[in-house]
Amino acid sequence: MMPKPHIPLEEIRTSVESCRRCPLCEGRTHIVFGEGNPEARVMIVGEAPGKNEDLQGRPFVGAAGKYLDELLAMAELAREDVFIANVLKCRPPGNRDPRPEEIEACTPYLREQTRTISPNFIVTLGNFSTKFILKTDVGITRLHGKLAQAGKFQVFPVYHPAAALYDRSKRTALEEDFATLGRLLAEEA
Ligand code: URA
Repeated sequence: MMPKPHIPLEEIRTSVESCRRCPLCEGRTHIVFGEGNPEARVMIVGEAPGKNEDLQGRPFVGAAGKYLDELLAMAELAREDVFIANVLKCRPPGNRDPRPEEIEACTPYLREQTRTISPNFIVTLGNFSTKFILKTDVGITRLHGKLAQAGKFQVFPVYHPAAALYDRSKRTALEEDFATLGRLLAEEA
């Protein structure tokens, strides 16, 4: 069988811009498609846009984003090196957790993004993104910092930076995990 052709990122973006697959489209200011290097070796997958992301149409632009930049630097990465996307492309009201039906409606876009970008590593931030990428119900507390495989991708789950901002023990673990990620990337360079 012929492999399915990859859909160009701009084409996926156009589909998301007109998406009405779930009610989150009613409340959005902007979709947050994701951004970065379209040929990134490392893809970062967060949960969903927050208030600032919805207003600007860009991922991780608030406090968690500033911290994510620091974490990337600990792995000797810059934003321009990676591609950052989320499980949901529209903001859930009041930043509540994504609902199963929203995840089901939205993740075909993330799946196409990962196919097109075809990174070596996917770093999943927190429970929702880890659960979707690894198809597991095991929580992030047990999975973080351990390399796993999902199809052709090496998956590295870590705590979500927003959760770690206000929890010192998670922050320590998260920073150690990004240092580990830097070593893994250097070994495979
Ligand atoms: N948290 C996320 O999971 N994603 C963003 O884009 C911003 C905050």
